[in-house]
Amino acid sequence: MYWQEDDLDALGKNVIQKYKELNALDDPDCRIVYQYCDKAKKSNGLEVFADTELVKEKLKLFIEADFIITFYTGNTEALDADRLEKLMYHELCHVGYNPSADGMARFCIIPHDVEDFRSVIDKWGIDWVKGDDKTGRKRTTKTRRSKVQKQT
Ligand SMILES: [Zn+2]
Repeated sequence: MYWQEDDLDALGKNVIQKYKELNALDDPDCRIVYQYCDKAKKSNGLEVFADTELVKEKLKLFIEADFIITFYTGNTEALDADRLEKLMYHELCHVGYNPSADGMARFCIIPHDVEDFRSVIDKWGIDWVKGDDKTGRKRTTKTRRSKVQKQT
């Protein structure tokens, strides 16, 4: 079962206004609707807390929205207010809105920019290939390489 409640709409609007990088979504031409679903959705064996869908052009005759954000209460009921806000932030990061484009080019779903294993992130941080490790130390690849070169 799917349903709407004012609290989820308010959470979405608050998060859009709170975070500067989301402020552009505070635009009547980018119509985001929010709904609950009582399922405990899973994907590839993992809990899905929420998702964001782009409304296809042909459905806009019937749905007055550009994006639908669904919170799955079967999984979100254990989350506190802080985590629900973070979840809403995550979902709003998927909303791609380009006001200067025409038609459906104005809207897209922004994919995740991180895909990794939990154990890798736990060990070496999220930016383990290019950035600093999670301890904040600068990578010392160059130093290590030059030491190796001196030794050989
Ligand atoms: Zn996501």
